[in-house]
Amino acid sequence: MNGKIALVTGGSRGIGRAIALKLAQDGCDVAILYAGRREAADETVALLEQAGSRALAIQCNVADGAAAEAAVKEVEAQLGPIAVLVNNAGIVRDGLAMRMSSEDFRAVLDVNLTGAFHMIRACLPLFIRRRAGSIVNITSVSGMMGNPGQANYASSKAGLIGLTKTIAREVASRGITVNAVAPGFIQTDMTAGMNEAALQKGLAAVPMGRIGKPEDVANAVSFLASDAASYITGCVLKVDGGMYI
Ligand code: NAP
Repeated sequence: MNGKIALVTGGSRGIGRAIALKLAQDGCDVAILYAGRREAADETVALLEQAGSRALAIQCNVADGAAAEAAVKEVEAQLGPIAVLVNNAGIVRDGLAMRMSSEDFRAVLDVNLTGAFHMIRACLPLFIRRRAGSIVNITSVSGMMGNPGQANYASSKAGLIGLTKTIAREVASRGITVNAVAPGFIQTDMTAGMNEAALQKGLAAVPMGRIGKPEDVANAVSFLASDAASYITGCVLKVDGGMYI
């Protein structure tokens, strides 16, 4: 991956930060997008630079198509041609469906699914022109199994699988791979807010009996983004300790 440029959305914290760091360790220069936590983004940039990468952080709400397009242009202007796009930015707004507001349903779809579409749409013409590029979308086993309280989130993640497979088919002949990674239960801010009962219930559903680390997900992304995976497209790789078999 030496010298390749990678763009990771939601790279300021959690899984996105681990992915950005792993890609930097693989030899990439890395740009991250974040929603609003400047300090966390700056911390990631410092870690990336320590790993020997040129690094850049841009505040960008991926739900805004024009902002996504502008961010892609800025990364190319500052770092060079993007070779790897990782759509990792995601939010949750959990609640039982019968009490979920339309706003909460839409907000999660806007970031998790439409946001990934915006990023892909902005990068694809560049990738097609160069006949190269890899895209990795971070979905979730929630989108494959369903999960009570996550009608919005599970729908967005199931949609992301459909998006992955469709774009994979659209650009397979152009030397571009499009894959998804589906994490199970991973230790980040997203899961830190769970109460003890929910945590124990979640863990009981994991045959390997432990919560995953962001690095577990990052290793799978690194593989799918690399030349070692150049004949793999349209796949969904679960990183879930056997949660969904
Ligand atoms: P996290 O710790 O909550 O971090 C979310 C990241 O997304 C942050 O960098 C945040 O930026 C960014 N973000 C949020 N909204 C955004 C927007 N509108 N535009 C751009 N960036 C935005 O989440 P995580 O647990 O690392 O999850 C990362 C991905 O893995 C998500 O797609 C999530 O659905 C998926 N996933 C997580 C788990 C899990 O157990 N943790 C399981 C399955 C799938 P700020 O720092 O600026 O807020």
